[in-house]
Amino acid sequence: MNTLMTVRGLRKRFGDTEVIQSVDLDIHEGEVVVVIGPSGSGKSTLIRCLNGLEPATAGEIALTGAASGAESMARLRDEVGMVFQDYTLFPHLSILRNMTLAPKLRGLSRDDAEARAMQLLERVGLAHKAQAMPAELSGGQQQRVAIVRALAMQPRLMLFDEPTSALDPETVNEVLLVMKELATEGMTMVVVTHEMGFAREVADRVIFFDGGRIVESAPPAQLFSAPCEERTRQFLNHVLK
Ligand code: ADP
Ligand code: MG
Repeated sequence: MNTLMTVRGLRKRFGDTEVIQSVDLDIHEGEVVVVIGPSGSGKSTLIRCLNGLEPATAGEIALTGAASGAESMARLRDEVGMVFQDYTLFPHLSILRNMTLAPKLRGLSRDDAEARAMQLLERVGLAHKAQAMPAELSGGQQQRVAIVRALAMQPRLMLFDEPTSALDPETVNEVLLVMKELATEGMTMVVVTHEMGFAREVADRVIFFDGGRIVESAPPAQLFSAPCEERTRQFLNHVLK
């Protein structure tokens, strides 16, 4: 498998606190990596570093074929899509306007941008909501819009930071289903989630992250049934109960 992203010696400090303690990670093309771990362990910080939202204190993050330095940060933001826990749609703009604001669509003529946006909304069954305001949509619907808005950038890698944690239980599955489809189509994805069913079913690899480091990384069947580390076992006992 070709490597899409290489992370070496990544560290991140906020003041005196080292939140990421030296992470090495290779992400392969088409791979789905699920990151699990306790609250406050640095998962969001890790993900934010991976798309250049948060500058690293030390280490390197490189997409294959990209230069390093400032240019590489710009490319991360350009080529890595991100979906957050709170759907982050602009509340005062229609769904269609939220879509056409995506930088890659902003470069098109208005007609072309809207046509492309409608195609993407169609894909998640929400074309009929194009003129609605975000507040008129359920959380799950808003999150589906946030996903296709990120896809409008034609990213090489998609990052998800607890995309279903803020949702009503009944809309969680519709979002997981969209993510599953993306995975099936071959999108490379890194997903921070507490949805262990999704991890088991969709992940190629599950990373247990704790205290700012990768404690253990293995295919889901192995990590969930026979973790090597005691700390992983404790965490799984706690969340799978
Ligand atoms: P997780 O996503 O696993 O819950 P986070 O990456 O959000 O963990 O946070 C890890 C630690 O870093 C926490 O102790 C948090 O308080 C701290 N932290 C996160 N962002 C900042 C920031 N911008 N400034 C200072 N501390 C931060
Ligand atoms: Mg988090």
